[in-house]
Amino acid sequence: GSSSSALNFGAGPAKLPKEVLSEVQSELLCYQNCGMSIMEMSHRGKEYDKINNDAQKTIRELLKVPDNYRVLFMQGGGLGGFAAIAMNLINRTGSADYAVTGTWSAAAAKEAAKYGTVNLVFPKADKPGAIPNESAWTRNPDASYLYYCDNETVDGVEFHTVPQTHPDVPLVADMSSSIMTKKVDVSKFGCIFGGAQKNIGPAGVVFVIIREDLLGKPMKICPAIMDFTNINKANSVHNTPATFSVYVMEKVLQWIKKMGGVEGMEKQSEEKSKLLYDAINNSDGFYTSPIDKEVQSRINIPFRIGRPNGNEELEKKFLDEAEKQYMYQLKGHRSVGGIRASLYNAVSLADVKSLVELMQRFKKENDK
Ligand code: PLP
Repeated sequence: GSSSSALNFGAGPAKLPKEVLSEVQSELLCYQNCGMSIMEMSHRGKEYDKINNDAQKTIRELLKVPDNYRVLFMQGGGLGGFAAIAMNLINRTGSADYAVTGTWSAAAAKEAAKYGTVNLVFPKADKPGAIPNESAWTRNPDASYLYYCDNETVDGVEFHTVPQTHPDVPLVADMSSSIMTKKVDVSKFGCIFGGAQKNIGPAGVVFVIIREDLLGKPMKICPAIMDFTNINKANSVHNTPATFSVYVMEKVLQWIKKMGGVEGMEKQSEEKSKLLYDAINNSDGFYTSPIDKEVQSRINIPFRIGRPNGNEELEKKFLDEAEKQYMYQLKGHRSVGGIRASLYNAVSLADVKSLVELMQRFKKENDK
């Protein structure tokens, strides 16, 4: 199919705004009359310095980041972030609390256990799809931090409120798949981090928003490139950053600003997800969501097709028909199967309408 008509529902790396990509294309060979690509330019030059500072500034603006927080960029992906969080923060008391609600928080807890004692605040569920009531969490008042994943990309489980924490236990959140899709009160957090490759840019860069007083206590073994204190001192150019990724991210952040900021993204996210959940809920059981209503994600929406709880043949047929309509990357994560639609910031309401139309037609033709 023609590349300009593809509807991309991928979980990440994910769709980027077309306007941003064409702007990138227009200056790909020659960045601002420099006669070279930004990819070919020093990370210590004035051009990249501006991009780096603008990206930090725009994140601060969009999320109303308080002055006593720092915005950092590093590499290593979300997984690198899991290790970095532990190596930078677990040293305070040697232990940390983890809320495991799905694939990525489970991976984060496993990674952190290499560096300290990990306490799960509730037992890991065999099949994610719910979050135990907070009154039943067993929090440790001596934990270095309380960790959770705001939106479980694979499983489709999202926190719609910020969990409570002990006043002395900073809250740490993985917002890889939810950053800039809803308002957040940054002051409730010790640290927010995530990979950019879903809502705010291409793969290759990790954002870290951290309260200043949490810097300065890394474990001795923490690699320099993951040491938040070092990265902060060097304004995120401690070593060569993924300059091109940060450059594209900066443009996506400007695009978000233009589109009404986080408020605009949140409103659009609510509309998009409501449309899709309505299609699931009004299908009389042909489409089903495996997730508890209160914690259904607005962003990554897994569902099954066919009675009673999904039929792999029908799902394969649906994916084939979707591709014929240029709808791509709708296959559920290999660990959970079924269908998954990811509705990140660059996915439009019109994209979701097309998907819902396909679902309605597919039900008519196949619900026998
Ligand atoms: N955290 C969340 C919520 C994710 O969705 C992902 C990746 O999909 C990760 C962490 C891991 O990120 P990476 O693949 O960049 O290591």
